[in-house]
Amino acid sequence: MAVRFDVITLFPELFGPFQHVGVTRRAFEQRLVDVHLWPLREHAEGAYRRVDDRPFGGGPGMVMLVEPLARCLAAIRAEQAASGAPRLPVLLFSPAGRPLTQSRVAELAQSPGCVLLCGRYEGIDQRFIDAHVDEEVSLGDYVLSGGELPALTLMDAVARLQPGVLHDAASHEQDSFSNGLLDCPHYSRPEVLRLAARDAAASGDAGETVEMPVPPVLLSGHHAEIARWRREQQLALTARRRPELIEAARARGELSRKDEDFLRGLTL
Ligand code: SAM
Repeated sequence: MAVRFDVITLFPELFGPFQHVGVTRRAFEQRLVDVHLWPLREHAEGAYRRVDDRPFGGGPGMVMLVEPLARCLAAIRAEQAASGAPRLPVLLFSPAGRPLTQSRVAELAQSPGCVLLCGRYEGIDQRFIDAHVDEEVSLGDYVLSGGELPALTLMDAVARLQPGVLHDAASHEQDSFSNGLLDCPHYSRPEVLRLAARDAAASGDAGETVEMPVPPVLLSGHHAEIARWRREQQLALTARRRPELIEAARARGELSRKDEDFLRGLTL
């Protein structure tokens, strides 16, 4: 079943090339992720097609008006009904929303989809939010100029989870956050990298060469040992950089006795 996104935006041109590059291209071109763009200005009235106005109470900036948004959402609802799509929830991008997580992305990837509302200016008239928005999502504690990059981010994260999009189906299962931990480091050819010391962020005399070998276990062919090494690398990196993720994995009962022994011996 395709995941459908109806995107309300003032800048539909930002979405074009994104759907035709990289590993996610297949998801968009085969409509595993079905994107419908709704240019908000087409739902504004008057010669100037205004979508914003000054805030009541004064202050800087402009506010997105309820009426064009409401007309646009009504048009989306009508089109969803006509094409037999279910009534999809409305998700607004906002710094005040709940931070986006991989588990929320995984839920959305299994869902019929949603309406993505991209804010601009100071934001959206609160009455539209109160009346129509089901969920507010933040990308993090910083302020962007609009919700388009968050919408692209969300759709990318959902697209790469669609079956057949990544060449190796196990690939996203190894990604950061899929098992609650950060990903392990990755290595490829050459087996030994030789660098001039001055290029290797290492101390050494001018002209000296530094050798950077791949961790030997990765060349051993022992699948169980490689899997254990990767797990330990994940645990170590997560414990050092995101200890709260270790606590959460522990609380979910996802750390084995071997994991706990390894963590106890770890110097942070
Ligand atoms: N006045 C708003 C505030 O301080 O919270 C910021 C408005 S911002 C300039 C315009 C739009 O960008 C927002 O309505 C929202 O859709 C989007 N946006 C900005 N930062 C975001 C973030 N961290 N996460 C999600 N959306 C964001």
